[in-house]
Amino acid sequence: MDHTNLCPCGSHFTLEECCLPYIQGEAMVPTAEKLMRTRFTAFYLHDAQYLYKTTHVSQKKYTNKSDILSWAQQNIWQKLEILNSSENMVEFKAYYLDENKTSQIHHEKSTFIYFQNNWYYVDGKFY
Ligand SMILES: [Zn+2]
Repeated sequence: MDHTNLCPCGSHFTLEECCLPYIQGEAMVPTAEKLMRTRFTAFYLHDAQYLYKTTHVSQKKYTNKSDILSWAQQNIWQKLEILNSSENMVEFKAYYLDENKTSQIHHEKSTFIYFQNNWYYVDGKFY
């Protein structure tokens, strides 16, 4: 966490006022975009449990918690940019430094589903 204490998702709120209550399960995520933001923040915080929990059940067989954790930990998550969002789709760029400290951009259009009062990540198209 840097000294400004602003949420890693790029909002102008602190982590505690922004993504943390959702990650800690104290509040329901209201929109697909908010879920995307909290998932970026979870990568930043290396919270693989939250990332796994917010992956839709249909995708869990392709998803491994320790893979998520190593992907989160081996990179330094710098910034999230939301390019487009609709009710169940978010296109974004995630800026990070890889394990060689090289700048990388992960550009994805993700699909989400609202299921039993929660939003879940389904899958993404990568650019
Ligand atoms: Zn946030």
